[in-house]
Amino acid sequence: MRRLGLILLFVLFVVALANAIQFTSPFSKVSDALKMVREKNLSKFEAKYWREMEDKYVQCELCPNLCVIPNLGRGRCGVRINIEGKLYSLVYGKPVAVHIDPIEKKPLSHFLPGTAVFSIATAGCNLGCIFCQNWQISQVKPEDADHYNLSPEEIVTVIKKNKLPSIAYTYTEPTVFYEYMLATAKLAKKAGIKNVMHSCGYINPKPLKELLQYMDAANIDLKGFSEEYYQEMSFGRLEPVLTSLKTIKQEGVWLEITNLIIPGKNDDPKMIRDMCKWIKNELGTDVPLYFGAFHPNYKLKNVPPTPVKTLEMAHKIAKEEGLKYVYIGNVYGHFGEDTYCPKCGKTVIKREGYKIVENDLVDGKCKFCGEEIAGVWK
Ligand code: SF4
Repeated sequence: MRRLGLILLFVLFVVALANAIQFTSPFSKVSDALKMVREKNLSKFEAKYWREMEDKYVQCELCPNLCVIPNLGRGRCGVRINIEGKLYSLVYGKPVAVHIDPIEKKPLSHFLPGTAVFSIATAGCNLGCIFCQNWQISQVKPEDADHYNLSPEEIVTVIKKNKLPSIAYTYTEPTVFYEYMLATAKLAKKAGIKNVMHSCGYINPKPLKELLQYMDAANIDLKGFSEEYYQEMSFGRLEPVLTSLKTIKQEGVWLEITNLIIPGKNDDPKMIRDMCKWIKNELGTDVPLYFGAFHPNYKLKNVPPTPVKTLEMAHKIAKEEGLKYVYIGNVYGHFGEDTYCPKCGKTVIKREGYKIVENDLVDGKCKFCGEEIAGVWK
């Protein structure tokens, strides 16, 4: 108990320190902040989920960081600014990445396989993973990254013109461009376009529930399975992510999970087994789980790439624990890319990287034995 208390105190201390660093305002006058917004062509879009405090302070209630932000300061994500006691998003309609990807890249393997997905991201993230694979856009301030001007209406028009079935909020952390994502998702849903997100799940339950009304699928990063891991590697906490996973499942949105395995950090077989048990007990055995290979990046260049045998060890544990759909990511041509029928064991979707080579599903069922395969197939 004492150890747990000390760990908790340490976690709170580091989170407070990280927040304090972020809140240092580069502006001394409102006019300077507005000038920056204007000159850098950023947005000043009133944010959702925050509350007023004394002396023009505000508290953002969008994510578990719950940043308390002084006038002219920003939240830890760097994209929400307090101007004269009101919180604004700097990135509404300002994506830094716009691409058309295979849906398999999100990754989503049980959601409209073989289709293309319009994908967007703005700058910013509410975590600080030292191994971030997209740090060039996630760990920068919006004024330091080139961006497009693309309104939710324009996005939906482009998607319709290109006859794409879905849009993904992805690459960085979509929570930090919540207002932009929500407005786009509402319009997309109205137009018959499906919404998916790849997120760290670090969001408070109330905004998440509002968003899920428009979301069709989500892949959530479950980065590790201990509070220490989240603190050391991501400057966040595990518990809110577990809450988000349960909420997504309860709200009936299609859910897949990614676990990036980093050698010596989260490759302990016991941690992996505990995580698989939790998924089985809390979310069910139908939730697809990916074990992804880490490649040295950002602040973690001194750790080698994940050996394939480590990913295979994790895959074996997940199968032993009864998870039906287990994948190995980032290893081209591996058996872990394919979908297998949990009843007869035959391959029902064969992949090569992001490409579907063969699809033996008929109306969402295994062609060979008729077993229903969980997912959204049309
Ligand atoms: S969304 Fe940004 S400003 Fe809001 S609590 Fe999270 S990190 Fe802080």
